Amino acid sequence: MSENTEHVKCLIIGSGPAGYTAAIYASRADLKPVMYTGMLAGGQLTQTTDVENYPGYPNGIMGPEMMEDFRKQAERLGTDIRFGYVSSVDFSSLPHKVVVDESKTILADTVIISTGASAKWLGLESEQKYSGFGVSACAVCDGFFFKGQDVAIVGAGDTAAEEATYLAKLCKKVYMIVRRHEFRASKAMMHRVLNTHNIEVLYNTQTQEILGDGQSVNGVKVFSNKTNEERTLDVTGFFVAIGHQPNTEIFKNWLDMDATGYIITKPGSTQTNIEGVFCCGDAQDHIYRQAVTAAGTGCMAAIDAERYLAAKEHTVALQ
Ligand code: NDP
Repeated sequence: MSENTEHVKCLIIGSGPAGYTAAIYASRADLKPVMYTGMLAGGQLTQTTDVENYPGYPNGIMGPEMMEDFRKQAERLGTDIRFGYVSSVDFSSLPHKVVVDESKTILADTVIISTGASAKWLGLESEQKYSGFGVSACAVCDGFFFKGQDVAIVGAGDTAAEEATYLAKLCKKVYMIVRRHEFRASKAMMHRVLNTHNIEVLYNTQTQEILGDGQSVNGVKVFSNKTNEERTLDVTGFFVAIGHQPNTEIFKNWLDMDATGYIITKPGSTQTNIEGVFCCGDAQDHIYRQAVTAAGTGCMAAIDAERYLAAKEHTVALQ
């Protein structure tokens, strides 16, 4: 084996709550896991502020701090955590081949994919400026902070419809900014929105700018394509719900995925269509997308990997 090639029992790709939880379980099962963190070590939670819905933190915790706790726990239990980006994979034979930073090759008996997903953003400079300070891509995570206030949400798919109705229960008023003259969401979800008294749908409307005082959001400038009029919505929160993109591009030629790129796993397990390759967290979940559900599937992936290896060793022993 060349200097730049290494054989491991369990390779974990990605370092959000799913990856770290898989690492904790895999370490305790003596799989001696090696984790490559990806470019954004800690994942999406490192870009949020307060997390109040993760059990075990009675006073809430900052997202980056929580991911640091996860990392320390995985490291203490023996995970070899490395900064690096997986650039390609070859799942054509066992052990699986994974190339890191286009230079190092890892031969892995099992691979746990926990590369997550990224929220799509509008791409406005002001959106970036106030991200975490009034701008959020997760109503379930951050809606609570806007209790009794007026907020806006952009998007017209099922996520936007679901999140708008969620926000309407907490907030005084919800403006829903829809870029076309109609929803993309299912009829049932759309009707739920239209029958909620404190949601006002603004059709044919574009978001132009998020306004703020330098510290936090205090308004959103929108433009109606129908009336050609500009208007400022007095809101303190702005939610973006225009879809997510799973970070699964490098696995495209190997793993079964849905049309958006979410990896398909066997129901009730984290097993993909390739032997010894497991997937957990947001890379395979477009429905729940919560830190706690990601952690849960991370635990499942490590148990699935451990049982797969044990079954293989047992078969070899019988031969
Ligand atoms: P979708 O891709 O379905 O919808 C994205 C929405 O965002 C569309 O209405 C789109 O507008 C709008 N949009 C995209 N870009 C922009 C932009 N730059 N400015 C303004 N608006 C924009 O994503 P979702 O996250 O809603 O859903 C993803 C998948 O998950 C879907 O298959 C959905 O059915 C499913 N889902 C199911 C749920 C359930 O069953 N409970 C809950 C949530 C999601 P336009 O329509 O004009 O293209």
